[in-house]
Amino acid sequence: MTNEPSATASTDITITQASCADDYDPNSMPVAKARQFIHTFLNPVTGAARVPVRSALGRVLAADIVSPVDVPAHRNSAMDGWAMRFEDLQPISTALTEIGTSFAGQPFVEPVGKGECVRIFTGGVVPEGADTVVMQERAVANSAGNASGNDKLITFGDGNRLGQNVRHAGEDLKMGAIALGRGRIVRAAELGLIASLGIGEVSVYRPLRVAFFSTGDELVQIGLPLGAGQIYDSNRYTLHGMLSKLGCEIIDMGVVRDDPATLETAFIEASGIADVVITSGGVSVGEADYVRGLLQKLGEVVFWKIAMKPGRPLAYGKIGNAHFFGLPGNPVSVMVTFYQFVRDALLTLQGVSPLPAQPLLKAICTSPIKKMPGRTEFQRGVLFLEDGVYKVRVTGEQGSGILKSMSDANCFIMLHDHVGNIDAGATVDVQILEGVV
Ligand code: AMP
Ligand code: MG
Repeated sequence: MTNEPSATASTDITITQASCADDYDPNSMPVAKARQFIHTFLNPVTGAARVPVRSALGRVLAADIVSPVDVPAHRNSAMDGWAMRFEDLQPISTALTEIGTSFAGQPFVEPVGKGECVRIFTGGVVPEGADTVVMQERAVANSAGNASGNDKLITFGDGNRLGQNVRHAGEDLKMGAIALGRGRIVRAAELGLIASLGIGEVSVYRPLRVAFFSTGDELVQIGLPLGAGQIYDSNRYTLHGMLSKLGCEIIDMGVVRDDPATLETAFIEASGIADVVITSGGVSVGEADYVRGLLQKLGEVVFWKIAMKPGRPLAYGKIGNAHFFGLPGNPVSVMVTFYQFVRDALLTLQGVSPLPAQPLLKAICTSPIKKMPGRTEFQRGVLFLEDGVYKVRVTGEQGSGILKSMSDANCFIMLHDHVGNIDAGATVDVQILEGVV
């Protein structure tokens, strides 16, 4: 069975709502257009639940978080040092009388007057009257000061600025302001930020339920011996990994034989229990014909040949209320199509908004690459820094069945539709793997 169907194969479009797909040949669908088409069908989940802050890690906020307080709550010092009135500081050197100490959590409550200063530690409240903090490295504490010899005199050097080392109330977050908007993914920084507001529970969207299975008579589960012509099913493992990282609730439905009745049962079951159904295999020519017939009966699905390599055959549509992604069978194609089409779709369905941009980095390609214009290629690459310049090399053999090319990679070298052969030393676009969320 080939994964590169001939250009003469028939292809139906049964989804008609999204007119953006109508102008494009389904036998040569550009990557960007396919993505755009898919996105017109994606309605985020609506169910939400309140969870303790820590449990929100990796989930998506279902409501804005409004700051109930100013953060920080008080004007405080960014340094260990002394607080004083800026107008008391002379251009070269100034001696001021220390009248007390402000520790973090233990403020000095009296105002600071002319000629006075207060010992202050990082996070300590800046006392009334004071407007500037001089760090301790720029001060000298003398012993006896005035006539009685009891007061401590502190001498400060030059080069001070009004307000230096003072953190203002509300400079991190103002009371009443939206601290985090609905649609934000909660990462470590957000956990801390929510905690800094004193909020113990947040509302997050329910996780997306994703069911997936592999199709193919040649596939064998781990633990069983391989017969003639058989291979182990690896796609369910890469899918398990990619879906788990996206925080989806996953339903692994195993291997389904290339048999219409068994497949029909599997599609019906999967679409009944999940928001998204993902399959691998069975969408290339020869196999696609009866899968197509089946899916036309069960839902609305388009079969594309994407102008890309690897990952040419791809099906997308709806089976009942579930979104369906029919990925190619080849293990590398599964990962490439997942990264290019499924990942953003799942983030959108999870309620993530705005979607994090997939940054493209420019890098120098260290070896030539053969490439035909007219399709986007995703070569697996290793990005590295040499003499302060980002460079990228291809990870050896690039066949769509060679999973080692993915395992060795830390990026895709993205060669756009219009470009042809790449010379060594040329600048190419690189998509960093795992860098999105
Ligand atoms: P298909 O798209 O079903 O024609 O499969 C294309 C190629 O991918 C064939 O060589 C299959 O044996 C292989 N393949 C399909 N599914 C899997 C899988 N789950 N794990 C590993 N290889 C697979
Ligand atoms: Mg197959």
